[in-house]
Amino acid sequence: MKVAILPIGNELLDGRVLDTNSKFLGGELAALGAETVCLLTVPDDLACIVDSLKFSSKRADFIIITGGLGPTSDDLTREAVSEFTNSKLIKHESLVEEIKAFFSKRGREFHPSNEKQALLPEGSTIIPNTLGTAPGFITKKDSLSIVALPGVPSELEPMWRDFVVPLIKPIKEQYVLGFKTYNLPESVVAGCIPDLEDVRVGYRAQFPEITVKIAGFNKEKVLRAFKIAKDSVGADAIFTEDINQSLPDLFKNSKKTITVAESCTGGLLGKLLTDLPGASRYFLGGVIAYSNELKKSLLGVETVDQFGAVSSETAMAMAKGVKGKADVGVSITGIAGPDGGTPEKPVGTFYIGIATKDDLKAHHFLYKGADRARIRKAAAYEALNILRKIVL
Ligand code: AMP
Ligand code: MG
Repeated sequence: MKVAILPIGNELLDGRVLDTNSKFLGGELAALGAETVCLLTVPDDLACIVDSLKFSSKRADFIIITGGLGPTSDDLTREAVSEFTNSKLIKHESLVEEIKAFFSKRGREFHPSNEKQALLPEGSTIIPNTLGTAPGFITKKDSLSIVALPGVPSELEPMWRDFVVPLIKPIKEQYVLGFKTYNLPESVVAGCIPDLEDVRVGYRAQFPEITVKIAGFNKEKVLRAFKIAKDSVGADAIFTEDINQSLPDLFKNSKKTITVAESCTGGLLGKLLTDLPGASRYFLGGVIAYSNELKKSLLGVETVDQFGAVSSETAMAMAKGVKGKADVGVSITGIAGPDGGTPEKPVGTFYIGIATKDDLKAHHFLYKGADRARIRKAAAYEALNILRKIVL
């Protein structure tokens, strides 16, 4: 099944509202194995909506319109579909009654303009909207199906699930496998992976994670390609084979307890480690020791004067100082900029200290040319990437 998505509304084009309906529908359609062939964002303009329907009808056999079903003069989906399908708009008295009941239940007055929402192109099937006043509809033009849903996401989603999903027919069953790599440039990841036969390889970079997705209709070929891709990238760079999982999510399986001492990340590592419920099983707590004074007084660090606050010695001392009864103490100290860099330790330099029962070490990093936010994020994620190899 080839599908076109047409979100309608001026507010989507001028940046007032983010088009989350398309994100939702695109994801749902992909999961259902349908192929979305185009996504056209259309203003509240009758001719434009009709043109978009014409364009989509040449490429798709199923069109999903969202928005433009309200009661105001700029809501033109019904009129556009009626013009495109050459059918009159018919008032459904049952819908007028439902809309009136909707208002009276909420103690609100019914306004005659709402009667417009009871008009549907002749031959349409109503998609009831229990959460709002804009009913949706399904209609056909020859072999083409057109579905219109309201723009409000909370109304659209249940209507989609209950009434539209059963109509979606997958092209063929698709097999999808994938993995996520940590902090390799996208081009490097893609460069590692050879051309793979009869599968589609997709890449998505969301710093510092890169998702590699392999999809195809032949299970054996997808499995083989997945193995080749994994071997090419290398096990060390791959942190998960569940593409819905982010690096911090792995820690729910931590076998060890962790404490953190953070300087330049200001608590970001602790935040990432506690985003998931149940974090108290493995996260004991942390110290944000931003000033040298606190590094000394709270963590017992004695290396600052001799080696500097940003040094492997201080990173190790911070990790050791915070470890306490945890299995692992981890620390971050660095220069997130924009000021504070020196030729020896430029902005983007940071150290991660790791203290365990048997080991004390520091890892050095330099994120050249990155801004403050990226350096801090990189530092917290680098710490997670080191930690996962110790605690999982
Ligand atoms: P409408 O059905 O066109 O009257 O849209 C009602 C409201 O839903 C709009 O004012 C937006 O706030 C919201 N909305 C419409 N389209 C979208 C969309 N594609 N994504 C997210 N929100 C939307
Ligand atoms: Mg609108």
